Amino acid sequence: MKAIILATNNTNKVREFREMLAGGDIEVLPLKEAGIDADIEETGNTFEENALIKARAICKMTGKPALADDSGLCVDYLDGAPGVYSSRFMGEDTPYSEKNAAIIEKLSGVDGDERTAAFKCCMALVMPDGREFVTSGEMKGIIADKPAGENGFGYDPIVFLPEYGRTSAQLSPDEKNAISHRGEALRAMVDIIKDNI
Ligand code: IMP
Repeated sequence: MKAIILATNNTNKVREFREMLAGGDIEVLPLKEAGIDADIEETGNTFEENALIKARAICKMTGKPALADDSGLCVDYLDGAPGVYSSRFMGEDTPYSEKNAAIIEKLSGVDGDERTAAFKCCMALVMPDGREFVTSGEMKGIIADKPAGENGFGYDPIVFLPEYGRTSAQLSPDEKNAISHRGEALRAMVDIIKDNI
């Protein structure tokens, strides 16, 4: 069995990876199960830089293939903000009800065609021999006039997906995985993992 270290302790991410790699001979170990207690600072200016920073650090610590992702919401009218600062926007501990209300407020009076936004995700795989692979994905939507939906997390309630007539928080987990930024980046990465590990 080959091991790959996932630079997260997020149980949802771990479950998604395990499901997508099921049946193969690759074991996915989140940081805790790999015995690592690390808090790697995301000092990059892009999702790709941050994903690489995390994957390189974990690969160096463990000597094993390491996988990391970084994601966020980019609002076009706000020049791509909150972007890489999505979790830090207005403070890490500020409830998303407040963060979401603030984004809606910043866009008050802005017309529908200028309310475009996208969830973006980059995933990086760093190998002990120095090889690096990056994949990405995005899910486009528009910023809703008011939050809606109870599923998902973070900014999901304010990202309206015109093709589905619902916000991201009104999708079931399976529906979201099938179209999400993370799902897209993950599917592309699974092929790379199968070919290179
Ligand atoms: P990370 O990639 O886990 O560091 O996530 C960064 C931040 O981006 C999260 O804390 C959320 O604020 C936001 N974000 C990323 N993906 C999603 C999503 O699928 N739904 C809602 N918010 C998201």
